[in-house]
Amino acid sequence: MEPSVQKQTLEEICAGCDNDKHRMMDILLETQRRLRCIDGFSMETIAHLTGSTRVEIEGVASFYSFFSETPKGQFTFHLCDDIIDRHAGLKKIAKALEHELGITMGETTSDGLFSIDTTPCIGMSDQAPAAMLNDVILTNLTPESIRAYIIALRSGVEPIDLPETLGNGNNAHQRLRSMVHNNIQARGDVLLGDVEDNKGLEKALAMSPADIVEQVTQSGLSGCGGAGFPTGRKWSFAAATEDTERYVFCNADEGEPGTFKDRVLLTERPDLLIEGMTIAACAIGSEHGLIYLRGEYVYLKPWLEHILRQRRENGLLGADIGGVDGFNFDIRIQMGAGAYICGEESALISSCEGLPGEPKTRPPFPAQKGYMGHPTIVNNVETFCHVARIMDQGAEWFYSMGTEKSHGTKLLSICGDCDKPGIYEMPYGVTLADLMKMAGAQDVAAIQVGGPSGQLIGRNGFHRQICFEDLPTGGSIMMFSTKRNILEIVDYFLDFFIEESCGFCTPCRVGNIFLNERIGIIRKGHAVPSDIDYLKELSNTIIKTSRCGLGQTSPNPVLSSLENFPLIYSALVRENEDGLDTNFNIQDALEESRRLAKHRSYIYDPDFAEEEA
Ligand code: SF4
Repeated sequence: MEPSVQKQTLEEICAGCDNDKHRMMDILLETQRRLRCIDGFSMETIAHLTGSTRVEIEGVASFYSFFSETPKGQFTFHLCDDIIDRHAGLKKIAKALEHELGITMGETTSDGLFSIDTTPCIGMSDQAPAAMLNDVILTNLTPESIRAYIIALRSGVEPIDLPETLGNGNNAHQRLRSMVHNNIQARGDVLLGDVEDNKGLEKALAMSPADIVEQVTQSGLSGCGGAGFPTGRKWSFAAATEDTERYVFCNADEGEPGTFKDRVLLTERPDLLIEGMTIAACAIGSEHGLIYLRGEYVYLKPWLEHILRQRRENGLLGADIGGVDGFNFDIRIQMGAGAYICGEESALISSCEGLPGEPKTRPPFPAQKGYMGHPTIVNNVETFCHVARIMDQGAEWFYSMGTEKSHGTKLLSICGDCDKPGIYEMPYGVTLADLMKMAGAQDVAAIQVGGPSGQLIGRNGFHRQICFEDLPTGGSIMMFSTKRNILEIVDYFLDFFIEESCGFCTPCRVGNIFLNERIGIIRKGHAVPSDIDYLKELSNTIIKTSRCGLGQTSPNPVLSSLENFPLIYSALVRENEDGLDTNFNIQDALEESRRLAKHRSYIYDPDFAEEEA
C-alpha cells in the first residue's frame, strides 16, 4: 500500500476513535483488520495521532496474539490448539491445511490470500476440531471440509457463507449466521430453564440501591468466573466510595481452555446479561457499562450490538431507564485480541485503558479504584445473569439451591472423551461421577476440573463435588479416557501457561519453563527421585512469589497430577544404581565457566574440536 494511502487510512481509524490513546485496542484492531498488519509505519503514525510514543504502541501491539507486525493473508485461519482439539484430530487438520495451501503453520501464501496459524482454546471444545477463519467460526473440521472450504474461498465465496447448515437456537439468527451449536444438555432452574426477561429489572427499579446490594448479598451469590468472590460484597465496596464516576464491566473473556458456557449465555441469554448489568448499575450508581468480549468471540459482536440497540429502543438502556427519572446507563463492547491473562480483572481493565493486558498491583482493588482510577465492578457473564434471576425470584430461592457454602446453580462446559459434550446447568454439589454418567463418559481415567489452572482428578476422586468448598471451577470440565497420556496433558497445560504469561514476574515467566523441562525428562524416563522434589519445591515457589492468579495457579497441573497419579510418576522415575545423574550434560555444565573464562575447552567443546579439524 502507498504510504500516503496507508496514512490516510490510519487517520480515518484514529479519528473514528477520537484520536484517544485509551481506545488503543479499537485502533489497533481496526488497523489489523484493514491493513492486515500493524507495521512500523503504522505504529509511528498512530503514536503521532494519539499523542503516544512508538514504544507505547509497540508494547500494546506485541502483547496480543491477534496483532501482527507482518502482513496476514486476506483469509487467516486460526486453528484451535487445545488439548481437546489435539485429541480430536488437530494434527490431521493442520496437515490438510498445509497440504492444500503449500505453506506451514505461521506462514502466508505468496499471493497474500491465506495465512495459517494456531491459537489456544477458542471456546469450541464441544465441537472440536475447530478454527477461526477471520471472524467466522468453523467447527467439527475434517480434512475433507478443509479442502472444500479452501476451494470455495478461492472461487470467491465469503467466509460467512461457507457453512452449509447453521447451528441451533440464536446461532441461526440472521445477525449471527453461525454454524456453532449450543449443545445444551441439561437445563437448570436459574439460567437455562424458562426465563422471563426484565422481571428482575422491574423489581430492582422499585428498590433502593442499598436494598439491591443487600438482596444480592443474602442470595449467597459468588463470582462464577472461578475466584468465587461474594458478589454483593464487591458491589458494596464500589457503592461506598466517594468517587461518583463508577463503572460496571462484564468479563466475557472466558479463556480457560475447555470453557464455553459464557458463549452459550451470550448467544441464548444476552438480555438476561444486560439486565443483570443494568441492575448492578442501579445498585452502585453507574452510568457506564462495558462488555469485554474475547477476540475469539468476535462472531457474537453483531448479535450483541443488535440486542443493545433493541434495548435502547425499548427504553431499557440509555436515559431514564424503565421510566425512572435520572437513571441513565449504557453499555459498549470492547473487543479483546487474544490474551488469556485479560480474564484477570485488573488485566482486563488495563486492556480497556489501551495498555498491554498486564495485571495491576493490588490493593487498591478495582471496586475501589479501577478503570481510569474510578471504582469498577468486574463480574462474569454468568454472575450478571444470576443477578437478574435473583432479583426476580428472591434471595432465599437462590440461597436454598446448592451446598452449605455454594449457592445456586453452575453452568458446566463438559468436553473431551464423552458421548454428550456440552452445557450442563447443575446445582452446586453435583459429583464428578454424576457428571460422567450424564455425559455418557465411560472408561474415564482423569477429569480436569477448572481448566489448566484447576485440578487433575483421578478415579479415587470421582466422588468429589463441584462447589467452592471442594472442587471450584469457572466451568471447565475436561474428561480423559484411559487411552490418554496424563503427562502429555500436564506438558500441554504448562506450555499454555508459558505462552500466556505476561512476563512481568520471573517465577511465572521462567519457573514454568523449568517445570516443563523437568516433566520432559520424566516423560523420557530419564528422571531420578530428586526430580520429583524439584518439581514440588519449584511449584511452591512459583505459587508463593507470582504476582497474579495465572502464576499462582500455573503449577497446579504438576501438583495435582503428582498427588492423584503417583504411579505414573513412580513408573518413570528410577533410582540410579551407579549413582550417576542421567540428566547431567557436560556441555551445559561447562557453559557458565566458558562464559566467565571467555575461552573454550579444546577437550570438551565439540564445536571447537570441529573447527580445529
Ligand atoms: Fe504476569 Fe505471570 Fe506475573 Fe501474572 S504471575 S503478573 S501473568 S508474569
